[in-house]
Amino acid sequence: MSLAQGRPYLAIPGPSVLPDRVLAAMMRPAPNIYAGPLHDLTHSVLADLRRLARTTAHVAVYVGNGHAGWEAANANLFSAGDGALFVTTGNFGLGWAESARRMGVAVEAIDCGKRVAADPWQIASALRQDGAGRIRAVLLTQTDTASSVRNDVAAIRSAIDATGHPALLAVDGIASVGCDPMQMDEWGVDVLLAASQKGLMAPPGLAILWASDKAVRATASSGLRTPYWDWTPRFFGQEYWHLFCGTAPTHHLFALRESLTMILEEEGLDNVWARHARLARAVWAAFDAWGQGGDIALNVADPTMRGHSVTAARMGDGAAGRLRAWAEAETGVTLGIGLGMALPSEPAYGDFLRLAHMGHVNAHMTLGALSVIEAGLTALGVPHGKGALDAAIAALG
Ligand SMILES: *Cc1c(COP(=O)(O)O)cnc(C)c1O
Repeated sequence: MSLAQGRPYLAIPGPSVLPDRVLAAMMRPAPNIYAGPLHDLTHSVLADLRRLARTTAHVAVYVGNGHAGWEAANANLFSAGDGALFVTTGNFGLGWAESARRMGVAVEAIDCGKRVAADPWQIASALRQDGAGRIRAVLLTQTDTASSVRNDVAAIRSAIDATGHPALLAVDGIASVGCDPMQMDEWGVDVLLAASQKGLMAPPGLAILWASDKAVRATASSGLRTPYWDWTPRFFGQEYWHLFCGTAPTHHLFALRESLTMILEEEGLDNVWARHARLARAVWAAFDAWGQGGDIALNVADPTMRGHSVTAARMGDGAAGRLRAWAEAETGVTLGIGLGMALPSEPAYGDFLRLAHMGHVNAHMTLGALSVIEAGLTALGVPHGKGALDAAIAALG
């Protein structure tokens, strides 16, 4: 008999779990968009988004998802034919590169595969070969949600600077902002992306884009801008509607106001980062233990190259697919599908899964999800090492 009745747990890497408080904050009538409290609330949200990214940069909120954020960045950074160096560590990096290519950007790519972080010196070497200075920007994901690989953004900036090349650095932080450390100013990030539905614990629908003064100056004549995506009125416009190029996403702003208060005022950003790191270590310890006695392995072997918000893993012989189905039907936990490791048409597709530990998650949720996996491996007769839950508890430390 299924034990799935009760509160479901969607443990996929976005949309992430919505705090009840965030939902409650959205339960109100439509506000006046022409004057009044919504304007003050919006400015407080924009100020707190800067605090979230540890920056004094410009920030814009677009009505759109992460893909919209990619286009916003592309449109403002490039003219058709401009060079871009995309450094990819999984499907999301590949997706951003493809969107730039389709917009007419001359994309050069360093494909680092799906299991290791980018090597900063490989990026530097590509820039050194760009004597003509065609590359306007280096673009990468901080954590690629598909592979769970996390890049060392600060080290990449240092390597770029060491070449003397003027390339801007643009980072997709959609899966990492609000989960893993991001210090935009200290690390020298010029353009940063986030979306509402991951670490920000709000519904999908907002793309957030930060840009340094340097990026704004360097891209003043970028030609791919269209009225909606142009960041200029959003950063410098005189009227409230310029911020959104139209009607404000009122209820998403109420949601963000609540989640930013939870992150910045109540828990504190450093504590949020530390919580994600500890929960991630517990997940990794459990998978390592299971792997001792079966065909189970984390996607990323080196812990320093793993994101703290999502873990991708392999369970051979289709066990990952069977486990996901079992966990949802029998326990009410939905685990993430594997993304980009195999095509849905290939048998190996069933070998991959992802467990999110992103946003509104605490120890009981992560330990609960790990217990469900343990129970599922046993119920399905999937060979696995013992002691995973003890290892997870010890790693929470
Ligand atoms: C989720 C995600 C995206 C895509 O966001 P959508 O809202 O699905 O368009 C892009 N990049 C990263 C790193 C993500 O995690």
